[in-house]
Amino acid sequence: MNGTVLITGGSRGIGRAAAKAFAKAGYDVAVNYNNSAKAAETICGELSDHGVKASAFKADVSVRAEVDEMILRIKEKLGNITVLVNNAGIGEQALFTDISEEMWDRMFAVNVKGAFNCAQAVLPDMIHSKYGRIINVSSMWGISGASCEVHYSAAKAALIGFTKALAKEEGLSGITVNCVAPGVIDTDMNARLSAQDMEILKENTPVGRIGTPEDIAEAILFFASEKASFITGQVLSADGGFIL
Ligand code: NAP
Repeated sequence: MNGTVLITGGSRGIGRAAAKAFAKAGYDVAVNYNNSAKAAETICGELSDHGVKASAFKADVSVRAEVDEMILRIKEKLGNITVLVNNAGIGEQALFTDISEEMWDRMFAVNVKGAFNCAQAVLPDMIHSKYGRIINVSSMWGISGASCEVHYSAAKAALIGFTKALAKEEGLSGITVNCVAPGVIDTDMNARLSAQDMEILKENTPVGRIGTPEDIAEAILFFASEKASFITGQVLSADGGFIL
């Protein structure tokens, strides 16, 4: 069963690559974006080349009312959502002592509450049809912790707990909930890092390279596939061996 996938933060980076992978696999694709309207429209045009339906939907995932309204629009245009990819996220580097309450709250609002909002909005239909796939995009830093990224690491660790708990609750409803924990991936999120920092990260990656958005897209697609129907509550590290 393919159906319709909603990819949050599908306008750029990993989400964009996931949108392409799902379209290639025959899914209709709802591309969520917040600020990058033009990029989202462009990717939808490209996805249509695969003979599937694809549309862009604006919503700040941290705002429940925007998410609920987006889900209604997706259902009208593309039908019920069978796969949810909670990919939208923000990153930030700061000394722990410099993290303001506002920075902390925004980190959790987008990375954690965004997943809560979207999962709660799609679950009634998934439960009703006794089928669903939810895939959360965490980070290797949610497993191991990153210095100067305490709020990011904590939010990504929260997504792992969210994944495991929801997997237990929804298993009998035919819904699997899994998590991908990427390593260092070549996207805008890492654009703020210096070339020297990227080189160090590359050297610390056993496979000897930085990951591509496509590397992560394939891991996400796997969890959505029938091949993964007996796998739930799992965290798949796609990090070139960085965290072992
Ligand atoms: P990116 O290139 O910066 O893209 C972030 C995406 O998230 C954009 O599409 C952006 O949409 C969307 N987004 C941000 N805030 C949003 C909001 N409030 N509502 C809806 N969409 C929002 O980042 P990326 O590297 O692809 O990261 C994707 C996910 O992978 C994130 O969860 C990130 O934490 C995780 N991750 C990334 C890495 C890495 O090395 N890159 C490693 C581990 C985990 P707009 O541009 O439309 O606002």
